Amino acid sequence: MNREKQIEEEIKILEEESFQIKARRTIKCSHCEKRTPIRKVTVLAHNHYISPTGCMGGDYWVSSKQFTWWCPKCGEWNKAHDGGDNPYSQRTTPLYKWMSIHRPHFAEVLQYHNERDITMEELRKKQDAR
Ligand SMILES: [Zn+2]
Repeated sequence: MNREKQIEEEIKILEEESFQIKARRTIKCSHCEKRTPIRKVTVLAHNHYISPTGCMGGDYWVSSKQFTWWCPKCGEWNKAHDGGDNPYSQRTTPLYKWMSIHRPHFAEVLQYHNERDITMEELRKKQDAR
């Protein structure tokens, strides 16, 4: 194997290792105070609806800059934002920023569009359909 190929192989191995280390970082539940590795945590990325304007502007969805995540230890939802229930607040927290950086290392990040009474399974199917 030539040196160039060898280096590329090593980089691949190191990147994989680096990914695994990041995915082992933990997040603390605000309800039960237990920590869970983020590779086991499902996150919902919230979006809010913008109504049509005038005769040209169609309706669309934008990111609310809000994450919630589900604690597998106690089954409660945690908020990672500071806007309360106001979808337009756009106020982020250090936790939100940290989760944004670590987005690829979570088990999954599902896009959420205010669907009521939807199960996680139904939400997953919707992601595939998009
Ligand atoms: Zn918990």
